[in-house]
Amino acid sequence: MQLSEHCWAVTGLACTPPWTVNAGFIVGRHTTLVVDTGANVLAAATIHGYASLARPGNRLRVIDTEKHFDHIGGNAWFRERGADVFGHPGIVRTEEEFRAEIAEYNRAIPDAARRALGEAAVFYAGTSLALPNQPVAADTVFDLGDLEVHVLLTPGHTPTNLTAHVPAESVVYCGDCTVNGYLPNLDCGAAPEWRQWLDSLDRIERLAAAVVVPGHGPVARGSEVRELIERVRGVLGEALRTGASPTQP
Ligand SMILES: [Zn+2]
Repeated sequence: MQLSEHCWAVTGLACTPPWTVNAGFIVGRHTTLVVDTGANVLAAATIHGYASLARPGNRLRVIDTEKHFDHIGGNAWFRERGADVFGHPGIVRTEEEFRAEIAEYNRAIPDAARRALGEAAVFYAGTSLALPNQPVAADTVFDLGDLEVHVLLTPGHTPTNLTAHVPAESVVYCGDCTVNGYLPNLDCGAAPEWRQWLDSLDRIERLAAAVVVPGHGPVARGSEVRELIERVRGVLGEALRTGASPTQP
């Protein structure tokens, strides 16, 4: 969907139920910046198709908002087509971790016959692991041609989380710093990381964006932006009070 003159979101890409995952792209005069690549090669091909058509002839670049596989699963598709993939240097994932992710996906399949057939292999067919080849270790400005994207370090959900801000159009892509409707996943860290996450939310809030594309769930606009941030803040505050993630038994 088009969010503003140069900003787009690709929402509702397949992910482990009940989750869908979002991606997006920002179209400058000479460069199109893709934000996240989906969980698998099918998602990547969809994002790539839309991003390529938005302004044919543009150079494609990719940025990963974090290290989890639902955001980087399509990296290889873009790397194979010559696109540089930018990401936090902490995005270091192994083949073993990727195989474990596929096994976990298979365990989440509700139907026993499909589980026994290992249908997770269909979800991940043709998908291979590719890490970012361009590190982003500090806040960075990308010039896409008459359009700037400010990439900010926003750790907390993971140490690798990045946020892309398009000031000229008041659009923010914040990955899993916020998820809309879903309970956020706090299981990668504990109190120190949750406090860091709250700092990152403050930073995102100060951008005063008109539109926020969360990592998962519907795009937030206008007054929904504040509600989105407040909700995640509330879950983090409760976890800090109790000392436990809501999804960790
Ligand atoms: Zn995610």
